[in-house]
Amino acid sequence: MRNLPWCHPRPLVPSSKPSHDGDRRKQISVRGIAGLGDVAEVRKSFNRHLHFTLVKDRNVATPRDYYFALAHTVRDHLVGRWIRTQQHYYERDPKRIYYLSLEFYMGRTLQNTMVNLGLQNACDEAIYQLGLDLEELEEIEEDAGLGNGGLGRLAACFLDSMATLGLAAYGYGIRYEFGIFNQKIVDGWQVEEADDWLRYGNPWEKARPEYMLPVHFYGRVEHTPDGVKWVDTQVVLAMPYDTPVPGYKNNTVNTMRLWSAKAPNDFNLQEFNMGDYIEAVLDRNLAENISRVLYPNDNVRKNCYEKSFGADPYPIPMHAGHCQSARTETSKSVLQVAIQLNDTHPALSIPELMRILVDVEKVDWDKAWEITKKTCAYTNHTVLPEALERWPVSMFEKLLPRHLEIIYALNQMHLDRVAALYPGDIDRLRRMSVIEEGDCKRINMAHLCVIGSHAVNGVARIHSDIVRNSVFKDFYELEPEKFQNKTNGITPRRWLLLCNPGLADVIAEKIGEGFITDLSQLKKLLEFIDNETFIRDVAKVKQENKLKFAAYLEEQYKVKINPTSMFDVQVKRIHEYKRQLLNCLHAITLYNRIRCNPSKSFVPRTIMIGGKAAPGYHMAKMIIKLITSVGEVINNDPYVGDKLKVIFLENYRVSLAEKVIPAADLSQQISTAGTEASGTGNMKFMVNGALTIGTMDGANVEMAEEAGEENLFIFGMRVEDVEALDRKGLVYNAREYYESLPELRQAIDQISSGFFSPRDPGCFKDVVNMLMYHDRFKVFADYEAYIKCQGQVDQLFMDPREWTRKVIRNIACSGKFSSDRTITEYAREIWGVEPSATAIPPPNLPRN
Ligand SMILES: *Cc1c(COP(=O)(O)O)cnc(C)c1O
Repeated sequence: MRNLPWCHPRPLVPSSKPSHDGDRRKQISVRGIAGLGDVAEVRKSFNRHLHFTLVKDRNVATPRDYYFALAHTVRDHLVGRWIRTQQHYYERDPKRIYYLSLEFYMGRTLQNTMVNLGLQNACDEAIYQLGLDLEELEEIEEDAGLGNGGLGRLAACFLDSMATLGLAAYGYGIRYEFGIFNQKIVDGWQVEEADDWLRYGNPWEKARPEYMLPVHFYGRVEHTPDGVKWVDTQVVLAMPYDTPVPGYKNNTVNTMRLWSAKAPNDFNLQEFNMGDYIEAVLDRNLAENISRVLYPNDNVRKNCYEKSFGADPYPIPMHAGHCQSARTETSKSVLQVAIQLNDTHPALSIPELMRILVDVEKVDWDKAWEITKKTCAYTNHTVLPEALERWPVSMFEKLLPRHLEIIYALNQMHLDRVAALYPGDIDRLRRMSVIEEGDCKRINMAHLCVIGSHAVNGVARIHSDIVRNSVFKDFYELEPEKFQNKTNGITPRRWLLLCNPGLADVIAEKIGEGFITDLSQLKKLLEFIDNETFIRDVAKVKQENKLKFAAYLEEQYKVKINPTSMFDVQVKRIHEYKRQLLNCLHAITLYNRIRCNPSKSFVPRTIMIGGKAAPGYHMAKMIIKLITSVGEVINNDPYVGDKLKVIFLENYRVSLAEKVIPAADLSQQISTAGTEASGTGNMKFMVNGALTIGTMDGANVEMAEEAGEENLFIFGMRVEDVEALDRKGLVYNAREYYESLPELRQAIDQISSGFFSPRDPGCFKDVVNMLMYHDRFKVFADYEAYIKCQGQVDQLFMDPREWTRKVIRNIACSGKFSSDRTITEYAREIWGVEPSATAIPPPNLPRN
């Protein structure tokens, strides 16, 4: 079996085997104290599961069998707490929080469960005693890749924080049979491969067929004396699968409930009564396709709609099924419930809740509307127009006729109110309508969410300001009190304790363990900013993480990198607005400088770029090809040696983020100001001791505010500068920059002449054409400032002590970016609940 080097902090012990020698780290209980009894218990349970659950013995068991035996062992520790937590909620009946999201980007579960239950050391020791390696088993687990990027990962971090804060919260989503595709790089191009993550079974979920619900589609609406009836519908069943969500050492275990589409047994049998039984059974796939696959678009919906316009009205059944499934619990005691909509994707919950209240529960329309608005709240995640959902009315007419009626009625009420307040302002009515007229009539889902919610929030201060001042300006003028900000955060459990235990340990040695559930306590580290041993410890942990990651790259991809070079990392979805191209131009510029002056000393860099491109996003795929092509030339140029490497990190996903982020020296957050709503990758790097080079965009603004602007590498246009360039008459002119900046010109000329693609010189003509003539994200306008700023990065990197002091200052000031802080704000300011500090009593074992 391979010996994988990271994940567990035994950096002082080269063998990376558990030490039994009073290692100083053993005194720190961040990963749980391995009592002798616990270890024996884990071993016993592991052997029982191998025998009874996996039906194997040690002669024939595979590494995967061992992973499953351990997963079941750890899962057993959740069960009592899970039952007890749910019982506690039943008895106390606190307000329930439903976090509705089409994505939950969970990653792996085994290590996270051990961390949150404090079982990690006991398991590590037990597995060692069994002659196995815990890290190796952890690597066998498939990522639950039920998300695209930041939005889905945010939902996952929120679940962790809600459980840790003791909120009675439920994540509601879809159990995609195939998650985000696996990315292969073939000949420099992205190739997608299906993510068959359930192939070997999922030990973390529990199917709940007894709670299956019918979801209705099609049919027609009857207006009868005793109310509206939606009849002759086609039914698809929604089967829930529950996954436990443990809080950090507080005995709380919440539920993530993911729905799977299931055809009813009589599906299509009526229609095919005349002998086409086989055909009818085969047609069950049509219904079950609803939850088949995650749509791989991040911050782009257009591509997908364009394609799926005619025959397959893709997302609506999925979204409708999702929202109809979420309804039972929510309609019961509706004011004891808060529903948070993660973007507009679950927007149909609004008309669905109205339908349940009015048509089923016979609540008066106005009262129902009041309840709906009090219950729902909407989080906006983007201002990019291509990502704002606008669904064709024609799809609704057939598929969800009653929901469409309700949306029309809600829009009418809303517009009547606007018309009364702004008499004669027809243009305002048109701008604010939920229904957009035109050759293709569309429903503006964001407008629906705003009118149907009592709170609308952006995800970083700058983004919330843009939401108020531009995208939803009219709505803000109408109801300013609705609009809020909730700056995103990340869970310090996964993104510090789990992925960077070495750093967690050196922090805990200085300030104790309180920071794990109160990240603002990291401030106490400022006291140690001149403490030479602490500076050395922090630098040492970083170096160890870099060595581990270098070993991983060599082992997995046979690439050798210089572990003393600066690890310069940009990992995130590939998108024009995130400007991987700017990074690429910097790499080319460095390369040309080295070639120009080979004897001059250079600060060695390993530039790592990773991320998936939406399969239908041509430019994003070209950007990947450009990065790999540039890497091919630079990495094989003998003049360059190990001064510079450009590595494309294949298949960036949660489990890879956990490896590369703790090893990064430099974090690239370089989107055009005003385009990245918040970013959360930026926060993960900050907590893990990388310095940020970034624009004043998203949460970078608040990171700079927390740490002091002088402790980040901030460069380039501010939002005001971008707006000024956009104003009429002052059009952004890429050619001016191209002509006045010789190094930029050289880089562009190389790309367009085929210097990086000798076998296909015209390969990058679309990229160059975009950059020169229709670059919405103004790459060239920030080139000069960026290159200069990178020079300052080099300067500081040459002074390791000063670099590390800045790192410490950044870590110390990263406390704001805990999702515990974010969730506490949602709880108090949107949901009207108070986080509870008191742990649920420990579970009892089942009685005999
Ligand atoms: C955090 C995270 C993201 C979001 O990164 P941004 O830089 O904020 O876009 C995307 N993908 C994965 C796997 C992540 O862990």
